[in-house]
Amino acid sequence: MKIEIITIGDELLLGFTTDTNAAYLARELAGHGVEVVRRATVGDDAEAIAAAVREALDRTGAVITTGGLGPTADDLTKPAIAALFGRRLEMREDIVAMIEERFRQYGFKGQMPVSNRQQALVPEGARVLENRHGSAPGIWIEDERNRWVAMLPGVPREMRGMTLDVIIPEVEARMGSVREVVCSRTLRCMGISESHLADLLGDRARAVRGLPVAYLPSLAGIDLRLTTRGMSAADATTLLDAAIQELRPIIGEHIYGEDETDLAGVVLQRSRARGFRIAVAESCTGGMLGARLTAIPGSSEVVLGGIIAYDDVVKVNLLGVDPATIRAHGAVSEQTAREMAAGVRDRMEADIGIAITGIAGPGGGTPAKPVGLVWIAVDVDGQVRASHRVYPGNREEIRQRASQGALDLVRRMLGNA
Ligand code: ATP
Ligand code: MG
Repeated sequence: MKIEIITIGDELLLGFTTDTNAAYLARELAGHGVEVVRRATVGDDAEAIAAAVREALDRTGAVITTGGLGPTADDLTKPAIAALFGRRLEMREDIVAMIEERFRQYGFKGQMPVSNRQQALVPEGARVLENRHGSAPGIWIEDERNRWVAMLPGVPREMRGMTLDVIIPEVEARMGSVREVVCSRTLRCMGISESHLADLLGDRARAVRGLPVAYLPSLAGIDLRLTTRGMSAADATTLLDAAIQELRPIIGEHIYGEDETDLAGVVLQRSRARGFRIAVAESCTGGMLGARLTAIPGSSEVVLGGIIAYDDVVKVNLLGVDPATIRAHGAVSEQTAREMAAGVRDRMEADIGIAITGIAGPGGGTPAKPVGLVWIAVDVDGQVRASHRVYPGNREEIRQRASQGALDLVRRMLGNA
């Protein structure tokens, strides 16, 4: 089955809102064997909406729209598409009653605003799609040639809920029993460059077991993604399992997880398994590492705390870094990083001390110590390891890469617990 997606809203065209709805729909539909063959975005303009939907219907006959279902004047999706199908809009009193009820539940005082009645307008012969996640119901409109348009609200949370509640079951019912899905698996790698990774993979650098290998670099490292198409879910799983098993031993310790795995979660899990507790000392990342770790539920079992040792005074007074070390080697140096890691571990009575000190820029770089230079040190039970990198990117990117780099050093030191 092939579908087109049309997302509606001036804010999308202007770039104020990133179109996450289309990406979500495409992923979710692919996982159920529906191919999204084209995506378009149009503004809040009845003619533009009608033109985009008309063209998509002519090509594929199956269209999902998001946005423009609300009660405000810029919400034109319904009238534009109703006109395209040659249907009038009818006021549905049952929907008015439902929206009034919603208003009461949300605790709004007094009468429902008159403009909300607009949400109860439904094209003749169209089906109302229940929205359990907000006030505007969705609409399914279909012509005698079984060409259809499903209209979903723009609010991402409501759109996602309705996709799962009604769209997926509806398209599945139309597809029958033979179903081919798009499936993918990701190996998350860290501490290795894209080209090294390709070298390591050798013959398998482009494809493994016939599956093309995609290299996706990001601030979190490099993801290797394998994707199957045109197979049943069961066959896809078998093939992906085999391909992943083939790659794992080749890439070895550079892999920190699969799919959505967060490196901070891996570090917490390995620390927890060893009964270790963590303390962090952060200079250029200013708390980012602590935030990454504590964002994960259950981190309190492992994370003791941290010190944002931004100024040298804090490095000396709170972490016990020797002022002579800073004078001799500078605040961004292996020696300072090592003393920060040992200092925070000692002062917080932790098992693991993690330290980051670097030059995030844009100013402050020198030929010997350029912007992006970051020293990381990790003290596990008195054994300290340090490493440095010159990270590319702007201030934010350097800080994120440094946090991720520090987590990776801890992961490597803890091994496969
Ligand atoms: P409502 O009933 O809340 O008015 P609606 O269907 O009219 O819903 P819109 O008014 O078009 O939806 O959009 C509601 C919110 O959802 C806006 O904040 C908008 O920026 C956001 N939004 C709309 N479309 C998308 C999209 N494709 N991706 C991400 N966010 C979106
Ligand atoms: Mg809108």
